[in-house]
Amino acid sequence: MEKIEKVDKMNKVDKVDKVDEVSKIDKIEKIDNIFVEGRAVFSLEVFPPKKDGPIEKIYAALKELRELNPDFISVTYGAGGNPADSTTVDIASFVQAELGVPAVAHLTCVNSTRADVGQYLVRLRERGVLNILALRGDVSPEGERKWDFPYAVDLIRFIREQDGDFHLSAACYPEGHVEAPSPAEDLRRLLAKTEAGAGHLISQLFFDNAIFFDFVRRARAIGVTARIEAGIMPVLNVRQIQRMVSLCGASIPSALAKIMSRWEHDPQALRRAGVAYAAAQIADLLANGAEGIHLYTMNDAAVAREIAALLPARAAKDGGSAR
Ligand code: FAD
Repeated sequence: MEKIEKVDKMNKVDKVDKVDEVSKIDKIEKIDNIFVEGRAVFSLEVFPPKKDGPIEKIYAALKELRELNPDFISVTYGAGGNPADSTTVDIASFVQAELGVPAVAHLTCVNSTRADVGQYLVRLRERGVLNILALRGDVSPEGERKWDFPYAVDLIRFIREQDGDFHLSAACYPEGHVEAPSPAEDLRRLLAKTEAGAGHLISQLFFDNAIFFDFVRRARAIGVTARIEAGIMPVLNVRQIQRMVSLCGASIPSALAKIMSRWEHDPQALRRAGVAYAAAQIADLLANGAEGIHLYTMNDAAVAREIAALLPARAAKDGGSAR
């Protein structure tokens, strides 16, 4: 039987049996295979419940999200992530096993050692989750900073060395990452992530499509060939968006700023306007050739449904219509 390398608690690399996984892997959709010419990918993102929160709520939301026929669903990894917490793996496994939808498990590395990540990979493999969004994560007071992986590129290289069966995705930033000295330098670092093995990119949220298209053009110009999905977050709560924008540096175009100030104190009206803005943004992205749309659902299936209802029907992967 073939052997794979496994990093144990003492950070020793061990050879373990690769339990007849090869046959299984063929059946698991890898994100690269989801992209076909002339058809935009549509994916959804959910987050695990807050600590000690009920897990059933997210499972109920996921069942509703399944109705939108996403190409895959990604599951975030908690800020200050604790590698011993298996909630992300549990939810990703549910998405695949119970809903029959390919899952992408996010994984951050700022708070992890090589041994932590090695064990996490074993757990993912055991549950048949072979798509990982490999991230550095934000340095936060919630978790102790570890230095085995200073950047996402180090995590990508490590996973590649450990187990070539995993498909790796990475994050990208149309307006540059907030810590980067310049958008150009951030792009060079993005290129390094793809050269290290990230075959697919999901963008940070943005509200101005011109910025995204310019970013894709610049990324292609320096040699980034990985598929790039556009990350879209509907504006439903002004405070929440302001907090996010202050963290990630996304700019707010004046049309959206006006919507936010006009209906800041009218949640129903803001929700309708936010859904309409997100749908219009997506329609424009699709009309102009975006390869994929990644909707940050905030676990709100009703909002995702409302946005999808305003969009033209998608072509199915094998021809026909997906809904
Ligand atoms: P990196 O690619 O490592 O980049 C981080 C910074 O370091 C950038 O400024 C970059 O320019 C710089 N850099 C990179 N390489 C080098 C180098 N060699 N030398 C010097 N500087 C370098 N966070 C979570 O906690 N959980 C999640 O589930 C999660 N999901 C996300 C999903 C998406 C689609 C996105 C866009 C973000 C997500 N985040 C998540 C947030 C993410 O962890 C933060 O944005 C984090 O600050 C950067 O992560 P990264 O993987 O992009 O880091």
